Amino acid sequence: MNKYLKKLALAIPLVKRHHENTAKLRSQVDAQKTDIERLREQVHVQKTANERLREQVHSHKTDKELLREQISTHKADKERLRTQVSASKSDRERLREQIKSQKSDKERLRSQIDVLKSDKERLRSLVSALRSDKDQLKSQKYENNAEKERLHSQIGQLTHELKLREGIKYYSCPAIEGFHLTFDGRIDTGEKCVAFCCEPIIDTPGIALSETTEETIRSFARLRAAIIGESIMFSLMGDYATEYDRKFTSECAKCARFQLKDWGNSDGLIHNVNLSMYPAPCQSKCVYCSEHSVEISTFNMKLHSENYNKVADIIMWAKENCMIAAKSHWQVSSGEISIHPYKDRLFSLTEGQSVNFFTNCFIYDENIAEILSSNPRSSINLSIDAGTSETWHKIKGVDNFDVVMDNLKRYSDSCANPKQITLKYIILPGINDNSDDYRAVIEIMKELSINHLSLSTNDDYKRSPTKELREAIMKSAECFTTMLYENGITVTMSDNPFSPDEQKHIYALIKELSSHATHAER
Ligand code: SF4
Repeated sequence: MNKYLKKLALAIPLVKRHHENTAKLRSQVDAQKTDIERLREQVHVQKTANERLREQVHSHKTDKELLREQISTHKADKERLRTQVSASKSDRERLREQIKSQKSDKERLRSQIDVLKSDKERLRSLVSALRSDKDQLKSQKYENNAEKERLHSQIGQLTHELKLREGIKYYSCPAIEGFHLTFDGRIDTGEKCVAFCCEPIIDTPGIALSETTEETIRSFARLRAAIIGESIMFSLMGDYATEYDRKFTSECAKCARFQLKDWGNSDGLIHNVNLSMYPAPCQSKCVYCSEHSVEISTFNMKLHSENYNKVADIIMWAKENCMIAAKSHWQVSSGEISIHPYKDRLFSLTEGQSVNFFTNCFIYDENIAEILSSNPRSSINLSIDAGTSETWHKIKGVDNFDVVMDNLKRYSDSCANPKQITLKYIILPGINDNSDDYRAVIEIMKELSINHLSLSTNDDYKRSPTKELREAIMKSAECFTTMLYENGITVTMSDNPFSPDEQKHIYALIKELSSHATHAER
């Protein structure tokens, strides 16, 4: 036991030391753990710092990349600028050259102008010399013209005397007797287009354009002589002949103007020139007009000017050879004059004449206004056909009544007298034969101081399909004539759409109205 106790006593300090050592070791381990923990934290901090550094390095790299790109762009810009600078230098050089050459051109032009000035001076003196020559020639020409006039009147006198001696009555018309020169229909197709009238009859006497001006006018004059000769021959035979026997005027027999009478004296001169040729342009789409097709309404300067020139040359030839009477009447109704590409020539051909321009008044034309103002023998004709905007639109196919009325007023303001505005009313049953339109037209006429209206219709009395339609037209004509008369406006009835009896009927109505008015005044 003691042995054990002794051993235990010996072991206790050992255990104690062991415990102390263990405790020391534990505290060392704890200290080391704390160190390790600190180290871990430091490592973590270090890692975070590294991470941040890495990010900074990455962003730095991106910045570097961007900078590199900017540098390269900058270099390219620099290069471009350099090229531009060198180009502008060469441009400057070129400009300098051009300025130099312009200066020398200017110098050259100046010397040319000097030469031209002296040429102009020389030309001026030449022109004045020519003018005096021209004046001399003119007076000679007038003498020649007077001689020709004298010859023409002698021929006319002889014809008249012959007729008087014979006392002949024969079939003819004012257009044939008055030698009306009418260019009607297409002049670009070689068909008949020189006639005495433009009546809506299928085969009025006429000829096509010949190769030369002189040939055309001579053929036309020969045709006139042949027509009159044929008619006189039938009369001499005591047989006025049916339309079938007539060579030249079989179709004229259908015309109201073709009458049996003594036509009296003829001076053999042209008394009427009518320019109604096609192709010619027009913007209106009137329901009664058949000239809307593209070929007829499209004027092409290249294609058609040659034939228009032919027409103009024929007229000039007739003028120069004193074939046109001084008191002749002219009509220009070739499409719409204000948009006609050939209008300048048409204006110059008709200068100073008693001329009537047919216009739809869609456009106000300064040239026409100027002619109306400077030539009191000139006039315009508008087929008004309506007094209200709605009816106008229905008939013309264009909704511009107010514009047209405004243009008509402006033309009227240019006229020396109100008679220079002539109006026509085409009665279209069921469209414009109503008192609203009649009243409105009368108001327009009164406002413009126009006191005459020409009445027409699109229905030829010979071709009228029904008696009822004819009666309706005549009833409208009677009603409108009465209203016009009550407002101091006179009426003329167009020839062919109205038969001689229909015309007589309306003129008798006017006479009756007038005698009633006279009785009432008394
Ligand atoms: S159609 Fe009439 S206007 Fe024309 S030429 Fe014959 S008769 Fe004369």
